Amino acid sequence: MSQPARDLKSAVLRGLANRCPNCGEGRVFTGYLKVVDRCENCGERLGEFRSADGPAFFTITIVMLLLIPLIGFGWLLFRSDPLTLMLVLCGVTTIITLALLRLIKGIFVGFLWAHQERDRGAW
Ligand SMILES: [Zn+2]
Repeated sequence: MSQPARDLKSAVLRGLANRCPNCGEGRVFTGYLKVVDRCENCGERLGEFRSADGPAFFTITIVMLLLIPLIGFGWLLFRSDPLTLMLVLCGVTTIITLALLRLIKGIFVGFLWAHQERDRGAW
C-alpha cells in the first residue's frame, strides 16, 4: 500500500514556524512543547507524530557546539573573571536552549509528518 508523497521541505518549514505541516494554518503546539492532538484548521492528527528525545538530542548537540566558541570569545573579548563568565554563559545557553528546543521539535513534527511516521501505539 503506497501513500502519496508529502513535501518534506514545506512540512519542515511549517513545523519550524509552528504551523501545521499539512495545511500551514493551524498551530503545532499548545503551550511551550505540547503538540496539539489535532490541527484546529484541517483536523490532521498531529499528536500521533511523536518526536520523543530527538529534539532534545539535537538541541544539546547544537548548544554544545555553540558553547565552545562562546567560551573562547567570551574569555578573549571580556577578560572577566571565570565565575562571571560562567554565570553569563549559563544564562545565555539556557535562553538558546529553550528557544532552539521548540524550533527543533517543530521541525521534527514536520519531518515525521512528511515521512508519515506515526506513533503506531497512539491509535
Ligand atoms: Zn492543519
